[in-house]
Amino acid sequence: MSRSPAAGSRSWQPAYIALGSNLDHPAAQIVAARAELGRLPQTRMVLASRLYASPPMGPQDQPEFVNAVVGLLTQLTPQDLLSALKAIEQRCGRPPDAPRWGPRIIDLDIIAIGRLQIDMPGLSVPHPGAAVRNFVIRPLADIAPALELPGMGCVAGLLARLGDAGLRILPEPQAC
Ligand code: ADP
Ligand code: MG
Repeated sequence: MSRSPAAGSRSWQPAYIALGSNLDHPAAQIVAARAELGRLPQTRMVLASRLYASPPMGPQDQPEFVNAVVGLLTQLTPQDLLSALKAIEQRCGRPPDAPRWGPRIIDLDIIAIGRLQIDMPGLSVPHPGAAVRNFVIRPLADIAPALELPGMGCVAGLLARLGDAGLRILPEPQAC
């Protein structure tokens, strides 16, 4: 017999978040934002990739990026999860009008939420850029190589296609 969830409770969904930074000690920014993700309400962080250095996308006259991906289990709706990520970006010092493709103190993108496919103004899931960005797929493969990104293929297959040229594994910054 199937039972509907109790009022107010939602099922737990796996969600994968990509983190990127290329300003003001990027590795430390990633570690700080990752800690904030671990404190989201109705959410548990269950997996975290290694940190990678990557060449900038778009304008080349900016510092290299540090990237990582984390795996969450969350009861938040996709919209609430996106709002929570934007709130963390702002708390970490990212101006809301930071230019796209430009240097940024922190960028948090929803890569996938379970098997959901969302295409609405302000939220596309899976993230449309994921399948062509090795700085997303390489760290995602650390924690979820068998994950199927709906409409894009499995992570290990995407990595085989994209390769890891230009990426460098970084040591995990030491906690002080
Ligand atoms: P990008 O991450 O593509 O370099 P931004 O971080 O400036 O660019 O994001 C611009 C907008 O993209 C955000 O305001 C957000 O509403 C929208 N967006 C659409 N889909 C997603 C997603 N899956 N994850 C995060 N932001 C998304
Ligand atoms: Mg973003």
